[in-house]
Amino acid sequence: MTDDLLGRHRSVLPDWLALYYEEPLEITHGEGRHVWDSEGNRYLDFFGGILTTMTAHALPEVTKAVAEQAGRIIHSSTLYLNRQMVELATRIAQLSGIPDARVFFTTSGTEANDTALLLATTYRRSNTVLAMRNSYHGRSFSAVGLTGNRGWSPTSLSPLQTLYVHGGVRTRGPYAPLGDDEFIAACVDDLKDLLGHTRPPAALIAEPVQGVGGFTSPPDGLYAAFREVLNAHGVLWISDEVQTGWGRTGDHFWGWQAHAQNGPPDIVTFAKGIGNGMSIGGVVARAEIMNCLDSNSISTFGGTQVTMAAGLANLTHLLEQDLQGNARRVGGLLIERLRAVAAQVPAVREVRGRGLMIGVELTKPGTDEADPRAASAVLEAARRGGLLIGKGGGHNTSALRIAPPLSLTVTEAEEGATILEHALRSLP
Ligand code: PMP
Repeated sequence: MTDDLLGRHRSVLPDWLALYYEEPLEITHGEGRHVWDSEGNRYLDFFGGILTTMTAHALPEVTKAVAEQAGRIIHSSTLYLNRQMVELATRIAQLSGIPDARVFFTTSGTEANDTALLLATTYRRSNTVLAMRNSYHGRSFSAVGLTGNRGWSPTSLSPLQTLYVHGGVRTRGPYAPLGDDEFIAACVDDLKDLLGHTRPPAALIAEPVQGVGGFTSPPDGLYAAFREVLNAHGVLWISDEVQTGWGRTGDHFWGWQAHAQNGPPDIVTFAKGIGNGMSIGGVVARAEIMNCLDSNSISTFGGTQVTMAAGLANLTHLLEQDLQGNARRVGGLLIERLRAVAAQVPAVREVRGRGLMIGVELTKPGTDEADPRAASAVLEAARRGGLLIGKGGGHNTSALRIAPPLSLTVTEAEEGATILEHALRSLP
C-alpha cells in the first residue's frame, strides 16, 4: 500500500475495529467468486465479506437494479409509500414460513435483533432473555447483552437480564462425548433448569448454526425440543438467521427448518446476504407480535429503495438459479473433500457444517486444546495461496470459516480445497 492506508486507518479509526491478516488487505473489486486487492492480487473468495456476498460479486442484475434506482432517486425509506419495500417484504413474508407474517426492514443484523428484542420484551412484558452460550447477535448495547461469545461482547453492563443456555458447542467439555439424542436431552434439561429459577423470560434468541462462534452444528431437532419447553412457558423463539438464511445451509432455506417439528419461530431476523453487500436487515414476525408496539417506530434508512432494489434482484437470481440447491451439492462435495484432508492432518479436529457454511476446527494435535495460532497461520497461508477464508470460534478463534458465494462452481470448490489443503499441511 503506497499511501500508508493502514497507518491512517490506525490513527483515525477505533482500536477495536478488527482487521484480518498481518498485512491487512484492501479489496478493490470483485467478480463472481473472486476479488482483487489494491496490489492487483486475485483471490478466490471463500468468505464473501462475512457472508454478505450471497450470490456472486458484481452480479449484473444487482448492479443494474442499484444503478437504475439510484438514477431515479436516492431517498430515505420512511413516511411515503415505498413500492420496492412492499415488494421485497411480500416475497420475504411468503418465504418465511411464518403465518400472517409482517416484515420490518433495518440497516443491519444488529438493528434487526434489537428490534426483535423490542418486540419480544414488549409483547411479553419481561426484560429477561435466554441466549445461547458462544452466541453472537450484534454490536449495539442490547445485542452485546445477548452475545455469549466473550470475544465480541465488550461491556458487561446490559439493559437485559440474559441467561445463557447450552446447545452450541460440543467440541470439548462435558457435552463432547454425548450422542445427538443424549446431547439434546442434556441441553433441554439445562433449559428447564434455567426456566425453573428465573422470572418468565421474553424469548430465547439463537442462531441455528452459530456463525461467529465457528459454524458449530447442533444436532437437527435441538431447537424443536427447546420449542416444546418454551411453548409450555409462553417464551418466544427468535431465530437469528443473519448468517444461516437464504439457503446458505443447502438443505434448508432458513436454518430453523432443521428444527421445524414444532412449527416456525415466532420471530426471524435476517441481514447480510439478502442485499449482496448492500445494507439490508430485517425482522419477520406474525402480526400479533409485530403490532404489539403502542407508539410509532421507524428506521430512516431501513429499506431504502436502492437497497430494496438490490435485495429484489438478488433474491430473484438466487431463486431462479436454485443457488440453495447449488449450495447443497457443491457444499456437500467440499465438505467431503475437506474431511478427506482432515483425516491426514492431525491438527484438524473436525470438519462440520452443511451447505456452504463449513467450519474446520483446529486443535493442538492429539488433544482437545483449541489452537487459535494454527487458525491464524492457516488464514495467512491460504491468503498467500490466493484464497480468502474466515476464522471464528468460542473463547478461542480456533475454527476456520468457509462460506463462499452460493454460486460457487465445482471447479472453484476444488481449487479452494487444494489451496486450503496446502495451507493445512504447512502447519508445523
Ligand atoms: N447476528 C449474527 C448471527 C451475525 O453473524 C451478525 C454479524 N456477524 C449479526 C447478528 C450482526 O449483524 P450486523 O453486523 O449486520 O449488525
